[in-house]
Amino acid sequence: MKPDNNPMHPAQRLADAPRCTAKAKTTGCRCKGPAVNGWNVCRMHGARGGAPSGPANGKWRHGNRSRASDEFKRALAELLADARETSKALDDY
Ligand SMILES: [Zn+2]
Repeated sequence: MKPDNNPMHPAQRLADAPRCTAKAKTTGCRCKGPAVNGWNVCRMHGARGGAPSGPANGKWRHGNRSRASDEFKRALAELLADARETSKALDDY
């Protein structure tokens, strides 16, 4: 890691590291912890946060309501609507 972005490098002081922007609900005071590289918050306040997506998530069950499944259902509904339209046009013909 280059010294320009590593707060632990001897050429830089930890106190000069970008600070966490999180504020306490009770006191309204800033966290003041060092922010994680590329984030505005520290490791305790959501940096790199979020659960893994897809089957890697512990709550994953079957994927019937996953984003990919929703897209598939939408495309299928579109196809069915087109088929119905075509069928009706053929009936009128
Ligand atoms: Zn923080």
